[in-house]
Amino acid sequence: MCGIVGYIGSQPAAPFLIEGLSRLEYRGYDSAGIAVLTPQKNGQPAKTTAVRAVGRVRLLEEALPQRMSGTVGIGHTRWATHGPAAERNAHPHRSEDGRISVVHNGIIDNAASLRAQLAAAGVELSSDTDTEALAHLIARSPAETLEEAVLSTLEKVTGTYALAVMDERHPDRIVVARSGSPLILGIGEKQMFIASDAAALVRHTDQVVHLDDGELATVTAGSFRTFDRHANTTDRVPVELAVAAEDLELSGHEHYMSKEMREQPDAAEMVLRGRLDERFATSRLDGLGLDARELRSFRRVKILGCGSAYYVGQMGAQLIEDLARLPADAEAASEFRYRQPIIEPDTLYVVVSQSGETADTAFAVSEIRRKGGRVIGLINVVGSTIAREVDGGIYLHAGPEISVASTKALTNMGLAFGLLALHLGRLHDLSYADGMRILKGLERIPGQIREIFASEPHIEQLALQLSTAQSVFYIGRVRGFPVAREGAQKLKEISYIHAEAYQTSELKHGPLALITERMPTVAIIPDDDLTSRNIAAAEQVLARKGPLVAITHPGVDLAPLGVESIVVPKSEPELDPILLTIPTQLLAYHAAVALGHDIDKPRNLAKSVTVE
Ligand code: GLU
Repeated sequence: MCGIVGYIGSQPAAPFLIEGLSRLEYRGYDSAGIAVLTPQKNGQPAKTTAVRAVGRVRLLEEALPQRMSGTVGIGHTRWATHGPAAERNAHPHRSEDGRISVVHNGIIDNAASLRAQLAAAGVELSSDTDTEALAHLIARSPAETLEEAVLSTLEKVTGTYALAVMDERHPDRIVVARSGSPLILGIGEKQMFIASDAAALVRHTDQVVHLDDGELATVTAGSFRTFDRHANTTDRVPVELAVAAEDLELSGHEHYMSKEMREQPDAAEMVLRGRLDERFATSRLDGLGLDARELRSFRRVKILGCGSAYYVGQMGAQLIEDLARLPADAEAASEFRYRQPIIEPDTLYVVVSQSGETADTAFAVSEIRRKGGRVIGLINVVGSTIAREVDGGIYLHAGPEISVASTKALTNMGLAFGLLALHLGRLHDLSYADGMRILKGLERIPGQIREIFASEPHIEQLALQLSTAQSVFYIGRVRGFPVAREGAQKLKEISYIHAEAYQTSELKHGPLALITERMPTVAIIPDDDLTSRNIAAAEQVLARKGPLVAITHPGVDLAPLGVESIVVPKSEPELDPILLTIPTQLLAYHAAVALGHDIDKPRNLAKSVTVE
């Protein structure tokens, strides 16, 4: 969701800005723009050229003038929060005289009153955005330096932002600021890069500075200086970027989702690597930041995530209850802080986010910390906002995930919950033998994921059948229910087919009325103590002529029902949901391909949801 890039150096800025923005396209956006500063001869102030366009970065590129030789520039992909996707609302936003240009990710909460004050002072506002107010405020600041003008403006502002600001009067610099939305400086040879996401930087430098919340920086062609809100210098040393360029390529795959699904066995090995401890039949989780005594003191576990991360959180809660016998539940992080949550000292809070930038989850973390709760994170992106806010956690090590529909990060979330549940279990009453059983089960999962992909042609056939439906039910019970929820979510996200998940046991309490030959059901039927109950429910669907696809295990005999089934390798019962979810990715993927949708960038959705 939304992206910032910036360049200052000796090369023309526009090519980097366009390339950088296209690297950020995967995050989701509705319009784009760049502004480039060109120094003038004869001591005239530099001049800004700005171009904005609704839609794809390619359209912006087509709209650029032939010559755009300036070597200082900023660019943006916008995900509208204030005002529709329209050229006038696309960034960069500029002061009335065009001197100041601003790109902004995030939301200015007091924008309405700032805009009203500016209008009352005679400023003609040209967009509906919150961001525009910043450009006018900076331009109207009496401060001598751009840094002071930005600092004094930010004093008037509440909300979240990553900002990059250019000033025709100070063409040797870009001033940036971060509060609640990420921003990275890329250090080059006599040139500097700015980006809100490492994906725009990896081809240009591996030396970066991740700005902290509340930090600002002045970036010139040869140097940078970071400082805090009181203008005190903060000494930041560049670190090596953890992402490699090839991680971000399609590498011959048609879609990132396809590539990322296929990376799951390797990604699964990465999250487990070095974390399985056979000697004590437990997991080694050095990053938790909590010792055995502290971990034993928790009486409850509360898991928070959004969308798919919430559904995996439900799997995690079940795993923790099963293995550690601690009451655990999952909740949508987006709702949490609005219901005056009770934060208890003996509850372990666990937040789950691929990007580590999910605004709703970050707010939940702040709420927990404000009230003194202990919170750990299951996060993929190292050094992300949430990863830095939490007391500790488990990095997912899934590698960069570009496709909006999450696959390998989700699987690794499931595995990370397996590791956490095993750890907590072994601190409580889980026996050595059961610990070993789970440990060995985790170890087998990467190979078992490979096996599932061997039956992809069959799953693709079934997906083609589903792709003609208007609406699909996903049903599962207990451990299978989060699998059904996640399966329905994936289908909705990328195929745009309406899908709904139900507890299998609830079917007869209402939704059975919808079953006809035109309403297919995907039923999760694992080999466990509920198999016969699940088969009975499947029969009820079939009796009403509902087409049914079962996701099941080798030991389950569905032949008498004559239904289509996808057979998934059996794991330990507690870990089964991780594997049962994989075919639901393939069903959604192939249905969406059959329907000709934009797999990696589904409509209206963004990869990391950085606004509330
Ligand atoms: N709130 C700003 C706008 O609506 C920025 C949104 C974004 O992060 O892209 O223009």
